[in-house]
Amino acid sequence: MNGRKVTVIGSINMDLVTSTNQIPKVGETVLGNSFHSIPGGKGANQAVAAARLGADVTMIAAVGNDSFGKTLVEHLTNEGINTENIIKVKDTSTGIASIIVSEADNSIIVVPGANNHVTPEVIEKHENKIINSDIILLQLEISVESVIKAVELAKKHGVRTILNPAPIQKLPKELLEMVDYLTPNEHEQALLFDSIGGTEEELAKYKEKCIVTKGSKGVMIYKNGEKIEIPSFQVEAVDTTGAGDSFNGALAVALCDGLEIEEACRFANVVGAISVTKLGAQTGMPTKKKLKNFYK
Ligand code: ADP
Repeated sequence: MNGRKVTVIGSINMDLVTSTNQIPKVGETVLGNSFHSIPGGKGANQAVAAARLGADVTMIAAVGNDSFGKTLVEHLTNEGINTENIIKVKDTSTGIASIIVSEADNSIIVVPGANNHVTPEVIEKHENKIINSDIILLQLEISVESVIKAVELAKKHGVRTILNPAPIQKLPKELLEMVDYLTPNEHEQALLFDSIGGTEEELAKYKEKCIVTKGSKGVMIYKNGEKIEIPSFQVEAVDTTGAGDSFNGALAVALCDGLEIEEACRFANVVGAISVTKLGAQTGMPTKKKLKNFYK
């Protein structure tokens, strides 16, 4: 029996979503229509996705010593996630994303706040947690240096790693060498490979690690240089926010369960698809029980 210990190292944010008919110009004040504060952050979203599927999830992350931090940690605890390793940082705000939505447009300010305190030193202090994991799931809303440290420690102890390279940025080759799986979306994959440079041979080595998510078109992987398409699960999409996070959480669980990569992608495609049928990143993420009706 494979273990299902998933450790997510990454961000926790409160998304502050204001809906308005008109995005204010510089110096202007307008009235909004509604306001919602919604738990988010890629790390937290992925942790929730994996926990709902029955994994034993631990988060290594940071929040501020403020009310958002308290609410978000409580929320993750209620989702059955081990939150003991989430540090509380004094004099720093919890990460927030201030999102203004107006019909077709939106504008967003992200303040990483406490997420910037998930430093390589903090990761090092949690080496024991890393050793005792079956898989480590990472994104890029904490510093690349911290991601490198986590992957280094995981590699040292033979623990597999998935890196969801979002938001995309230039990544050092040493990181790409060490990581086991990369899960960019189509857009991120193009930017990632543009930024790496190097010979075709070198790139091919990294491409073999890629699971490229393609929204409603499913997933593409490379096997011995050949592209293999794995079609999506057909649904009526309502809100695709967090689809990639659901996919990544599910992929981590499937790999823990010992599924081969193509089957793991099929499983994660079903979870990703179900997640887009409801408004909000986490709302539609299915539980193990719900999933039984869709994935046999
Ligand atoms: P991201 O949210 O990171 O941009 P994608 O949009 O590629 O990622 O979506 C991730 C995964 O979620 C897809 O590979 C697919 O499995 C699922 N998914 C996303 N949108 C849809 C959709 N409209 N219909 C079915 N599945 C979807």
